[in-house]
Amino acid sequence: MTEQKLDRQPKSTTGKTTTGKTATGKPATGKTATGKSRPEGNPKFLWRSGEMVEWDKATVHLSDLAWSAISAVFEGVRAYWNPESEQLYIFHLDAHLKRLFQSMKIMRMTSAFSKDELTAAFLQLLKANECKGDTYIQPLAYFGGGVPGYMAMLEQPGEIVITTRAAASGLDEAKVVHCNVSSWSRITDNVMPPRAKAITNYQNSRYVSTESFINGYDFGIILNPNGKVSEAAYACIFLIRDGVAITPPLSAGILESITREALKDLLNKEMDIQVIERDVDRTELYLADEVFICGTAVELQSVGSVDRYKVGDGEQGPVVGRLRELFRDVVLGNDLTRSEWCTPVY
Ligand code: PMP
Repeated sequence: MTEQKLDRQPKSTTGKTTTGKTATGKPATGKTATGKSRPEGNPKFLWRSGEMVEWDKATVHLSDLAWSAISAVFEGVRAYWNPESEQLYIFHLDAHLKRLFQSMKIMRMTSAFSKDELTAAFLQLLKANECKGDTYIQPLAYFGGGVPGYMAMLEQPGEIVITTRAAASGLDEAKVVHCNVSSWSRITDNVMPPRAKAITNYQNSRYVSTESFINGYDFGIILNPNGKVSEAAYACIFLIRDGVAITPPLSAGILESITREALKDLLNKEMDIQVIERDVDRTELYLADEVFICGTAVELQSVGSVDRYKVGDGEQGPVVGRLRELFRDVVLGNDLTRSEWCTPVY
C-alpha cells in the first residue's frame, strides 16, 4: 500500500471519520488507530504479587519487555457502578479467575495466590483506587526475571499484576458496528491455543483489526482454518435466524467467553430463545435476522452489516435490544436471581 493511501484515514461505516495516526506509520501518539485516546491519568496503585505498589514505582527492567510478554496471560474484567445503590459490582469475578488459572496452567505457570487471595486483592485495589464508576480490571500473569520467553519453564510461579482503569459502560445505548470477514484465519488449538487468554494470541486479533480499519470497517470476523465462523477480533459472535440463536462452538477456535455464557443463559431462560452451538458458515451471517458481538470490552453490540451485506434492517434488532436491557440489569446487580454473578466491592 502506498504512503498516499495510508495517509487517507479510512471512513468508518458508522459515518465517523477515524482520526488515529498509527496506521500512517508515524510514532504512536497515545491514540489507537480508531482514534480512541488512551485513558488519561493513572490510578494511585496497582497490585503486584501480594503488594500494593504506587503506580509510578511499579517498574521492571527494560530488558524484560519482550520476553515477559511471550508467556503472559491475562483477564479483562469489568466492574459496574450502580448509582442507585452506590455499589460497585465486579461481573463474574469467579469465572474470570478460573479462566486466568486455566490460561496459566496451559502456560505451565503456577500461582502463589489462591482464588480467594486474588479476590481479596481485587477488592483491596478497587477500594484503594477509590473506584466509584465503571472500571476495567486487568490481572496479568507472566514469567519475569528476563528469562528468554522461548525457553522451557516448567510449573513455576508467575508474577501477577492487577491494574484498574476507568471504562464507562456502553450498555445504556444501542451500538451498531459494521464488520468484514477477515482474510486472516483464526489461530488453532495446536498452534496458539485460543482458549488461553495469552497476550501473544492478540497478534492474531491485531492483524484482523488492522485490516478492518484500513478497509473502513469497525470489526473483523475471523474464520477458522476449516472456513467456519470463529469469532470477532476480540469478541464472540451470535446470530439470530428464524427465532433461534446460533453461536459457534468452543471448538471453533474461540476464547471460552464469559459474556457468551451469560448471554446464552439470558436468551434461554429469560427470553425463551433456543441457543444452538454449531459450526456457522460465512453466508449465514449475510442472511441472519440479527447478528451481535459480545465480550467484556465490547459488552453487547449489534452488527449492522457484514461485508456490506445489510443484516436485518441494519439497526439494532429486537432480540439484541431486549438482551442488552436484561444484561444491563444483571451487571448492575438489579437482577436478584443472578446476584451471585456480581461481587460487591463496598
Ligand atoms: N474472544 C476474544 C479473542 C476476546 O479477547 C474476548 C474478550 N475477552 C472474547 C472473545 C470475549 O470473552 P469474554 O466474554 O470473556 O470477555
